[in-house]
Amino acid sequence: MSIDINQELKSKHNQNVSEYINKVLSLVEKEQVTAEDAAWITKETVDGFREHVNPGFLAYRKTVTKDGQFAAVEWSDNGSCFKDVNGKEYIDCLGGFGIYNVGHRNPKVVKAVTDQLKRQALHSQDLLDPLRAMLAKILADITPGDLKYAFFTNSGTESVEAALKLAKMYSERTTFISTTRAFHGKSLGSLSGTAKGMFRKPFLPLIPGFRHVPFGDIDMMKKTFEVCASVGEDVAAVILEPIQGEGGIILPPENYLKQVRELCDQYGSLLIFDEVQTGMGRTGKMFAAELYDVVPDIICLAKAFGGGVMPAGAIVAREEVFKSWFPNPFMHTTTFGGNPLACAAAIATIGVLIEENLPERAAVVGEYFLKQLKEAAAGHEDKVVEIRGQGLMIGIEFHQDEIGYEVSKGMFDRGVLVAGTLINSKTIRIEPALTISYEEVDKVVNTFKQVLELVQE
Ligand SMILES: *Cc1c(COP(=O)(O)O)cnc(C)c1O
Repeated sequence: MSIDINQELKSKHNQNVSEYINKVLSLVEKEQVTAEDAAWITKETVDGFREHVNPGFLAYRKTVTKDGQFAAVEWSDNGSCFKDVNGKEYIDCLGGFGIYNVGHRNPKVVKAVTDQLKRQALHSQDLLDPLRAMLAKILADITPGDLKYAFFTNSGTESVEAALKLAKMYSERTTFISTTRAFHGKSLGSLSGTAKGMFRKPFLPLIPGFRHVPFGDIDMMKKTFEVCASVGEDVAAVILEPIQGEGGIILPPENYLKQVRELCDQYGSLLIFDEVQTGMGRTGKMFAAELYDVVPDIICLAKAFGGGVMPAGAIVAREEVFKSWFPNPFMHTTTFGGNPLACAAAIATIGVLIEENLPERAAVVGEYFLKQLKEAAAGHEDKVVEIRGQGLMIGIEFHQDEIGYEVSKGMFDRGVLVAGTLINSKTIRIEPALTISYEEVDKVVNTFKQVLELVQE
């Protein structure tokens, strides 16, 4: 008897879940939502975050937005912009922390992915999958120097994990040098390289053998190599971002990366460039390595690699290094890495970057953007410390966190989304689509100017 009641309750419950699922899918299917739909979506989203995702996100949203705007729910996107569920449009200068290099839902990337989806979505994991081979060849062609073999991942942190494991396997050494303010991801291996204490402390001890030296300080780097050698802890690899992103858009001092390369060569250590954020045209070249004329042994990619449509990442390494994985290609694996949808997205993305000269466009538009922002900030030296950048990777540093928050809030209110950085909250970041129009740049600059004038010191 009691079993029957349970079953009845269960089927009732399943019926409710089914109804809810159908409602959600019908909204996903709709081209336009009504005001009533929008109100339902907003309520369900806020409730869902509070009860089932993490209420901390709502608290965070309240600190970065004015009035009731914390409940802004994103719904659609196109080009350099996205819209919330109520139809308010924002110019996206956060760009998912730099994932929309070819714009939101670039039609060529969407087409490649949907074409592939119609034929085969994921791979068998056993037969040879063609797009992985073709993408690897394309990467060998476009990456600097003799980088040749690729391993595919689903995210930035996974790319860094792969790079660290490959470096260990190749070198048979276990010491890594990373830099202060570095961000390499948050899984346990990559977090060992990441610098921010707040994110690391609860998870200590991390991978043994990591040492952090101040980014840009070549003397400290040299001394650390010397010390490591003298105590018998030879360095497997140096890992760094050629331009630090989350750290607050920190450019390397002149010749720094070349000198790091020389030290690595001197001590037989590998150089890993984490180009998860700087890669795919962001800084005005396809890869930031080209800006500084330095070839790493391993390059890490993700973020914009999937064209803002698919999650996708990769490492590309020199043959000499990668061949450590030839005898057993299953030494390091991931089920979804290099899947056909991700590869289709990456191939189309690289096609768009090349055909539309987007790296060069990032250089030219970035220079204009930087100049305009600097002009807009003139006379506000009491608030703004520095505006710096390379290509369309721009940082605005304020004297206090508070000013940065107020500027972001004011800009959000006026339809421009900019990003704080995870490591350094005094700096806001501007990383729009590389396709952003001059008109949109002017709008962002004017908004910044307006808001800066209103913000109290
Ligand atoms: C974002 C980022 C990562 C981590 O990428 P996820 O996809 O979030 O894991 C690693 N390195 C750099 C330089 C990044 O900017």
